[in-house]
Amino acid sequence: MKLSMIIPCYNEEKNVELFYERVKEVFADHNFEYEYIFINDGSSDQTYEVLKQLAQLHKESNITVLNFSRNFGKESAMYAGLKESIGEYALIIDADLQQDPAYALSMMEILDKSEEWDSVAAYQKERLEGKILRSFKKTFYHLINKISQVEFVDGASDFRLLRRSMVEAILSLPENNRFSKGIFSWVGFHTYYMPYDVHDRANGKSSWSFWKLMKYAIEGFVSFTTAPLRLATMLGILCSFVSFVYLFVVIMEKVLMKIEIPGYATVICLILLIGGIQLFCVGIMGEYLARTYLEAKHRPLFVQRNKIDYKNMK
Ligand code: UDP
Ligand code: MG
Repeated sequence: MKLSMIIPCYNEEKNVELFYERVKEVFADHNFEYEYIFINDGSSDQTYEVLKQLAQLHKESNITVLNFSRNFGKESAMYAGLKESIGEYALIIDADLQQDPAYALSMMEILDKSEEWDSVAAYQKERLEGKILRSFKKTFYHLINKISQVEFVDGASDFRLLRRSMVEAILSLPENNRFSKGIFSWVGFHTYYMPYDVHDRANGKSSWSFWKLMKYAIEGFVSFTTAPLRLATMLGILCSFVSFVYLFVVIMEKVLMKIEIPGYATVICLILLIGGIQLFCVGIMGEYLARTYLEAKHRPLFVQRNKIDYKNMK
């Protein structure tokens, strides 16, 4: 098997068939073996039924459908798909046709041509997003690249082609809170960055809201750097230092200059400031503690309800 396509699907009933057809069309003139691994990530529409039909109708097409017991998120879906894949190359691609399967051919060519590369990551030349979101994402990448050891490339999506050795490396990371962009660069290897044009979604709407993205960004920070914990220490040291200086000033005023100090406003401000900083730091620690707690439970990344697999029945 040359290529395994991993396709996470969440409410994509109108897209999966189009996706299948598009792949057929672009791979038609090429002679290599490939498989589809669709992961139905607890869709609330008819995605599963459509996939089931598709698999039954095209038994010769190496279609596997993993059906999750509920929505576990794209990260879990990608993990499940990679685990299921057997191809020499694994391609992670969205079901909504925003990422044209035709790019897979140029990606494969890059890996075929040169042993030097272990993966090809497609990045968006231009983001099709609003200004605010774009600047938010820019700030995120700028910050995380400053404080984390692994490199995050702005605009690089999960749309990637991976060599088997890299797939094995990714699967060997057992963590539960997965931030793929970080994992891809943490495992190392040599990644070729290829620009691509994002299309509009074929049907349906994106499942990302601003808050979901925000949570995802925090996940990225907490998973790949412990720098925020150090920030707490730094703030503590800074506060203590300033307090000592201020204490010294107050004592001097009181003892040497005999100035009556009207302290009410100052006290209130300081209590609020210090209280705020303390809560902020406790919050940061809480984020890490919560992750530790979740990891310590060793829960599986996903639960599978059933699986359709005609590949092994042929
Ligand atoms: N997806 C998924 N589980 C989720 C959310 C999304 O498997 O909980 C899939 C979705 O079906 C699509 C891909 O992940 O194939 C990307 O999702 P989406 O198009 O919503 O994200 P965007 O393209 O806006 O980044
Ligand atoms: Mg999309």
